[in-house]
Amino acid sequence: MKTLFSGKSVFMFMFSILMACTVSARKPIKTLLITGQNNHNWQVSHIVLKDILENSRMFKVDLAVSPEKGQDMSNFILDFKPYSLVVLDYNGDSWPEETKNAFVEYAQNGGGIIVYHAADNAFPNWYEFNKIIALGGWEGRNENSGPYAYWHEGELIKDTSPGNGGSHGRQHEYMLTARDSEHPITNGLPNRWAHAQDELYDRMRGPANIANLLFTSYSDKETGGSGREEPMIFTVDYGKARIFHTMLGHCGPTYDNNPAMQCTGFQVTLLRGAEWAATGKVKQKVPKDFPTSSYLTYRYDYKAP
Ligand code: ZN
Repeated sequence: MKTLFSGKSVFMFMFSILMACTVSARKPIKTLLITGQNNHNWQVSHIVLKDILENSRMFKVDLAVSPEKGQDMSNFILDFKPYSLVVLDYNGDSWPEETKNAFVEYAQNGGGIIVYHAADNAFPNWYEFNKIIALGGWEGRNENSGPYAYWHEGELIKDTSPGNGGSHGRQHEYMLTARDSEHPITNGLPNRWAHAQDELYDRMRGPANIANLLFTSYSDKETGGSGREEPMIFTVDYGKARIFHTMLGHCGPTYDNNPAMQCTGFQVTLLRGAEWAATGKVKQKVPKDFPTSSYLTYRYDYKAP
């Protein structure tokens, strides 16, 4: 009897069906984005964050939008258990105890967390939250919040001198410099890359339990900064949790006029940090449009070209 396919081609055919199923069955990472109060334009930033994450096809984002500032928060009860990633775009009134406890439990059980920009201004007096963000600013932070942390002569300095925590100079374009190129998030990215106009957070303080300092930026006194090399992107040492903290991404006035978030470098580091926080690995390739030290690039529509 003649067979239509040889054994090998049948095998290859079955194998390719299997591969196709495996790829299509790779479920997006379930993500919870918390927003609703911020001294920033959260109405735009949370849509942009959701779009960046979902346009990558790696994440499916649910939104938890809190009541407005000053309103009753008692029903803002969140369940973190279904999620592999929690994105913090929230700086406002205290969460109910039940939500705070559930969040700490999520982190302690090895949850993935992104601390985005002014989320690190939130909750100055919540001890565990400050351990989760490692460094924070404003809202009365001072020497009681923990040391200043900055890069100096090849090491991370923790400086306990007194003073307010959190400030920034004028918005401007600036350079990011890698301090750990081996980490899955930074591996393959340029050691120096240009970032679009943004705030450059300086003089941040907190427990300073940074696990891997990934990128720093020089905060120039010429632009009203600290004169120090400031930690901008890092991971946090908090038990089994995987926490990615990016201070970049001050939200602009509109979805289309939002340079700091339209910067390719911001978007790609966010996506790599998100994948790492959720899975412990980064499988994304370094994209061709990533900025270099000599030019910055934009993804105006929050999508890879
Ligand atoms: Zn800002």
